[in-house]
Formats: sequence, structure tokens, C-alpha cells
Amino acid sequence: MLLTITTTHQPATDLGYLVAKHPDRTQSFDASFGQVHICWPEAGPQRATMALLLEVDPVALVRGKERSNEDGPLAQYVNDRPYVASSFLCVAMSRVLSSALNGKCRDKPELVEQPLPLEIRLEVVPSRGGPQLIEQLFEPLGYRIEAERLPRDEQVPAWGPSGLYSLKLEHTLPLSTALRHLYVLVPALDANKHHWVAQDEIDKLLAKGQGWLADHPQRKLISYRFLRKQRSLTNRALTRLADEAGEEVEDKAPVPEHEDELERPISLNKQRQLAVLEAVARAGASTVLDLGCGGGKLLVPLLKDRRLERVVGMDVSSRALEIAERRLKLDDRPLHWGRRVELIQGSLVYADSRLKGFDAAAVIEVIEHIDPWRLPAFEHALFGHARPSTVVLTTPNREYNTLFPGLAAGRLRHPDHRFEWTREEFRAWAQRVAEEHGYSVTFSDIGNLDDTWGAPTQMGVFERCV
Ligand code: SAH
Repeated sequence: MLLTITTTHQPATDLGYLVAKHPDRTQSFDASFGQVHICWPEAGPQRATMALLLEVDPVALVRGKERSNEDGPLAQYVNDRPYVASSFLCVAMSRVLSSALNGKCRDKPELVEQPLPLEIRLEVVPSRGGPQLIEQLFEPLGYRIEAERLPRDEQVPAWGPSGLYSLKLEHTLPLSTALRHLYVLVPALDANKHHWVAQDEIDKLLAKGQGWLADHPQRKLISYRFLRKQRSLTNRALTRLADEAGEEVEDKAPVPEHEDELERPISLNKQRQLAVLEAVARAGASTVLDLGCGGGKLLVPLLKDRRLERVVGMDVSSRALEIAERRLKLDDRPLHWGRRVELIQGSLVYADSRLKGFDAAAVIEVIEHIDPWRLPAFEHALFGHARPSTVVLTTPNREYNTLFPGLAAGRLRHPDHRFEWTREEFRAWAQRVAEEHGYSVTFSDIGNLDDTWGAPTQMGVFERCV
């Protein structure tokens, strides 16, 4: 298994400092599954390449001593593991690149945070999920991807293509970030089921995923596959990730029995997003506010709608805005979007003139984060002062909580929720506010509709009458 990392950062030999390996030397290290070699096919001032070669020793894998420790069941991999990038890569990286992986550099610490132009090649990567999966995992992180499908056997074309890919990834980012992406995503691509996974894999996943996984659109799939499709571990990991991201409980919904079920149906988040986009489109808006935009999940599809000339995301949390900013940049179209989008910090409980004059405002899963005693201030700031022509507002339906298996009776969906309304409570509030401020309001349900408990999310669309 071969991984190469090339940089054209100057001097390119800085890469040697970052990985704490001298470019003039070839080094070998023992690992439980075989040997890891580090060598430098090129190391000049303009361009340097470090190669990490993993030599899996099939005999070492089945040796008694290996079987008796926690790596024991690795023996099952003996037939196909030596050739492909797999979870062994993680073990190898922790073994020989641990300082780089953990963002430490003794001799040139200033390099750690520095984005470097990197070209990463993995000669043979399995992708159980095809080339689409490679894209789904790496593209949201901003990589340029070239994936070439390898034949099953070059000598026998009739055998057709294999499930293996030769992968080239290019990006400008700190080396430790790139290594952490590989650490998590390569095993997720492989997703071999048979590896025994210990509890502490969750800690590894979250440590290496820090700063990017919570916000990755495929975080659920990645966690599930990294944790070798163990649902209970995955659910625990997602709960912790969601806490980190301030996400709602829907993301903690149990991972279903089959991966297909996980990947196919659209999530509640997505359904909510589609409903909101449709309501904004129906309103014929060309200027839109996303109030309490959080990490900016709605901003991207809003910006993709070319009818929208101006999109402003506001949130009270600077951390949320940082995530949103990164998300917008990641989509690689900042210049294109630059003039149409703006992120502002502000609180919905204060009248704010920056919010005046918009066609529509989306307030998605935000109101329940506001203290009840501040709701009158929110009502005045939005419906009395900013007065957009249309307000699209969603909030959880508390009655539906009883159907979330992971949620204890009487608990709210997120620790930061100050309240959650029943359908009747939401409608009463919305109708009163509409009347008081000269709006009309219509309601709809988002997500699976239960005969007794209604849908998980309720939406009100307010239209200004005058
Ligand atoms: N609308 C986003 C985020 C929902 S989470 C989405 O649907 O994904 C709720 C967001 O509301 C958080 O980002 C939180 O910071 C923000 N928020 C809470 N109180 C707020 C207030 N008073 N003013 C503005 N934003 C607020």
C-alpha cells in the first residue's frame, strides 16, 4: 500500500520538518501488521514527495501473539489487505506520522497551521460505494479529485473493472488537516465490516474529525463506516458530534439496519430545507434573510438559486458564522457568490435596521433557542421592525418527541432548546403574532406524518398583508 504526499510549497523540503523525517533518509518502522517505510522519491526546494509504503506481513497477521491481542481478528484480512489502503493506513500514520497528525512540529512550529499546496496519491483505494462515494467524502472538504478505476486484472480485460481506485487529491491546506482527513476517510471508503472496533475508536474518530467532521454533510455515513457499521457506536459518536455542532436531535436518530436505508431516504434536515426553499420560491423573493443561519446549511442552496440576488445570513454565534463562512468558501465559488451573500452577527431579540427591506426571512429551528420571556422582543424585532414580506419559520413539534427512541419522556431535542411547542401552542402563537402585526399565516408539516403525533417539524409561512 502506497501513499505519497507532494508539496510545491517553497522550500518544499519543509515537508521533512513537518513529518519529522529527513528527506535524505529512508526509514523503516515495525508495526503489528508488518513494516512501514518512509522514503523520498524527490526532495528539492521546488518540489518534494514523501512516500509512505506499508508492507503488510500476512504471516504477522495470523501469528498467535497478534491474535491474542485486540488486533486479533485482523487475521481475517490476510487475503486482500496487503494491497489496499485501509485502516492499516491509520495505524501506520499514528505510528510514524503522529506529530504531523497531531499538528506538532518541533523545529518549525509556524508551519503547522500553514496551508500548503498538497498533492496526495493513494495507489490503491477500495471504495465500497463507487466513485460517487469518493466524491461525497472528499469534495465537501474542498479537494480536487481524480479517481481512476483499476481493472481487476490488467492481463485479463474480460474480468472488467475492480472496486479499487487510484486516487489523486489536490488541495491547499495544513498538512495535519489533510492527514486527519485521510485517517478518517480512507477506512470509511473501505468500510470492511469484519474488523473488531473498540470503544476508543469513537474517541479517535472525534479527535481526528475535530473541526471538520461535525460539519461534513456525510458525517453520519462517515462515522458509520469508520466504526465498521456498528450502530450503537455510531449513534454514540453522532450524539457527541451533534453536541459539538449544536445540532438538533434528528441527527441522533438511530442508524437503520441497512446501509441502504441510511443512504437513500432524505433526512429530516433535507426535507425541511426543501420545504423552506420551496416556500421562499413561492413567495417570489429575490432578497432573503436566513436568521439564526447557524453553520449556513441553508445558505448554499439559497445561493444556488440564481433568482436570489441577495442572501444575508445572521447568527448570534461567531463560531456558527465561522463555520458558515468556511462552508461558503468550501463550495469553491466565493468570488461568484461574493456579491450576493453576506454574513452578519446579530441577535434576533433586538430591532436591527440591517434586516429591513427584505422579501423573505427564513427562521429555521431558531425560535426554540430563544428564552420565552424574550419572545415579545423577537416578535417586535422581526414582525414589527424588519417586516419582511414573507417569514418562513420552522420549529420542532413537541408531540412527536415520543417517537424518538433515544429521547427520554419529557426531554427536549437539544440541551439549548428553551421550549418546544405542541402543534396547538405553535399555531396559537403564530396566529396571534400574525394578527398583531398585519400578517396572515399558513401551516404545514415537515417529515413523516404520524396519525397521532403529527410531523417532527412544523412550519408557518407568514405573508405580510400591507
Ligand atoms: N437555522 C440553522 C441553525 C439552527 S440552530 C439550521 O436550520 O441549520 C439555531 C441557531 O440559532 C444557532 O446557530 C444559534 O446560534 C442561533 N440563535 C440562537 N439564538 C439566537 C438569537 N437570539 N439571535 C440570532 N441567532 C440565534
